[in-house]
Amino acid sequence: MREVIIATKNPGKVKEFQAFFEKRSIQVTSLLDVEELDDVVEDGETFEDNAIKKAETIGKALGKPVIADDSGLEVDALNGAPGVYSARYAGNMKSDQANNEKLLRELKGVPGEERTARFVCVLAVYLPGTNSSVFRGTCEGKIAEEKKGEHGFGYDPLFYVPSKNKMMAELTREEKNEISHRANALTQLDNQWDSLLNH
Ligand code: IMP
Repeated sequence: MREVIIATKNPGKVKEFQAFFEKRSIQVTSLLDVEELDDVVEDGETFEDNAIKKAETIGKALGKPVIADDSGLEVDALNGAPGVYSARYAGNMKSDQANNEKLLRELKGVPGEERTARFVCVLAVYLPGTNSSVFRGTCEGKIAEEKKGEHGFGYDPLFYVPSKNKMMAELTREEKNEISHRANALTQLDNQWDSLLNH
């Protein structure tokens, strides 16, 4: 394989994948570089549904290998919400601030030991002529009672990471990359890559 398309327009994500594929001499192209494609509607009930739909829709349109991801936050006391609705939890404006405020409202009165949560990242790999493979990475933590930290994005200021004794938004990019759900999913992809290509 010489080229893989990463189904994202997020330059930060593209960089993470570039580092991964560089060592395999595979060129990474993103949706920033290819012809305008219609946005794939993420209407699945699971992260897996959405990632596979995105990878296969774009892969079949372009006839090339594609990797797509879908990610979000699962909170146990909210039965897994916001889950696949993480980006637009507080409405279609996709505001991190409004999403965090809603999360705090929904968890009002829930005691510390019941505020367990995890970030989830699912990667779907579509190789033309095969079924997609999926890899699920997680990062366990707890939802704090107030925001802290300036780094990251999304729910990072409310997400306490026990292994670092810090909020996710207090970690540097390098520290987050050691423990994040995305890094975890990428490690699994790394471990399976050779067998994936041989099947
Ligand atoms: P996407 O699948 O990467 O677009 O992520 C969907 C939503 O999940 C984002 O808009 C965030 O609200 C949330 N999310 C995903 N990954 C992270 C993360 O690393 N930190 C904080 N929020 C995240």
